[in-house]
Amino acid sequence: MQYGKVTPEIIAQLKEMVGEKNVLTEGLENYSRDEMPHPEPRTPDVVVKPENTASVARILQLANEKLIPLTPRGGGTGLSGGAIPVYGGILLSLEKMKKILEIDEANFTATVEPGVTLAEFYKALAEHGLYYPVYPGELTATLGGTIATNAGGMRAVKYGVTRQSVLGLEAVLPGGDIIQSGGKLVKCSTGYDLTQLIVGSEGTLAVVTGITLKIAASPKKAELLFIPFNNLHDAISCVPDILKAGIQPIGIEFMQKDIIQLMERYNNKELPLHDYEAFLMLFVEADTEEEFFAISGRIDEVCRKHNAVDIYMPNTDEAKRTLLDAREKFYFAVQAMGMSDLADVVVPRSRIADFVEEVKKISARHNIPIIAFGHAGDGNVHLQPVGEGVKDESIRKAIMTDIFKAGISMGGTISGEHGLGFAKKDFLPMADSETKIELMRRIKHAFDPNHIMNPGKVLDF
Ligand SMILES: Cc1cc2nc3c(=O)[nH]c(=O)nc-3n(C[C@H](O)[C@H](O)[C@H](O)COP(=O)(O)OP(=O)(O)OC[C@H]3O[C@@H](n4cnc5c(N)ncnc54)[C@H](O)[C@@H]3O)c2cc1C
Repeated sequence: MQYGKVTPEIIAQLKEMVGEKNVLTEGLENYSRDEMPHPEPRTPDVVVKPENTASVARILQLANEKLIPLTPRGGGTGLSGGAIPVYGGILLSLEKMKKILEIDEANFTATVEPGVTLAEFYKALAEHGLYYPVYPGELTATLGGTIATNAGGMRAVKYGVTRQSVLGLEAVLPGGDIIQSGGKLVKCSTGYDLTQLIVGSEGTLAVVTGITLKIAASPKKAELLFIPFNNLHDAISCVPDILKAGIQPIGIEFMQKDIIQLMERYNNKELPLHDYEAFLMLFVEADTEEEFFAISGRIDEVCRKHNAVDIYMPNTDEAKRTLLDAREKFYFAVQAMGMSDLADVVVPRSRIADFVEEVKKISARHNIPIIAFGHAGDGNVHLQPVGEGVKDESIRKAIMTDIFKAGISMGGTISGEHGLGFAKKDFLPMADSETKIELMRRIKHAFDPNHIMNPGKVLDF
């Protein structure tokens, strides 16, 4: 594709559309990368920060007419290079569209602009005793970005991922047309579901400018349980039985001893029961203390049938924070070790232990440590090869290929929540048939015939 250039005339037109202060042509390094572990930074030619949908529409119309690549960006916390403007051009930052337009307590919905961050949204809802259950770990991520990546996180067992909470969208198509899809509706069977097609499309089809989300009443109690086992197989085999017993934790995470030791060093805090081999961390909601104790009693019963050694309930805020820090700061601890890549393979949850075993073999074969932890309740395993050895591009790619092959052979796929972006797009043919990929190309072409929307991501042409 031969793209057009961002000329001084185009910069002048952009300034006329959004005002001089919202067009940047210098100091753009902050927009040249996201949180992808092996970044290939690319500075955009211009950064534009529209303040409303009408401006987004005008910018897209101009980009489409002049064939200028356009990359939407939210908080830049993505882990797959989705917000890196690999072809330069216009970086469309949604950071100034951050109004919470409505919190509708009668319908349990909220309507927001895409630049609202998770932290801002959680805070605003809490003031109404309400709650948005989707919880990806990084709270500076924007709602637009979480929709574009279909972010998952730690509460997917009970509430699902972002997709399950999106009721409606306003989106701008590359030609500048604005569409509304879905709304404050519990049911909708009117034609193809464009809302769900745009969710997870990583900015390659349209720019999301308005979002209607399903929200919930805040739980009265949110507690966690930390459960040690002598091996990972026992820990993982518990999970289906917890769910079969009718217990619905909001999330179930697993960790192994290596992670526990790493987090103790990183946070400089000792973790309880740290000598065992494998651990489950369960997040549980309840309306009363009695209900919480009843639920934890049933969890204890199931876990002990699977050889759980103990069940630890932190009973102070500090003890709870120590455990949460071990989970939430994990990404930064591994980064400090020299993380070179990050896979977020998802497998059927009953196969997690087999998959982790296979990853251990891959690690031994390449002689590279691979750290594994993740969401036991939904089968999403995060894998980080670390150390000097993986700086070699061909070794890194060979390891990732082996990891993806193993996940796919167990009925899984290559990304559970981070998306393909730029980092994983070359691996898509391993996971999907050419027929399906060709259908995706035709969908992309129907939305974006000139391929200006976030080129170089998700699909190759
Ligand atoms: C420490 C840490 C922990 C994390 N934990 C999790 C986790 O548990 N679960 C999880 O799923 N993710 C996690 N992430 C990844 C990241 O937070 C998510 O991918 C998040 O959804 C990205 O949001 P963002 O606003 O930063 O988007 P960006 O990184 O800015 O963009 C991501 C993608 O969305 C597109 N995009 C952004 N805004 C729009 C828009 N308005 N319209 C159309 N396209 C748009 C971009 O073009 C890009 O392709 C974590 C990241 C970090 C750094």
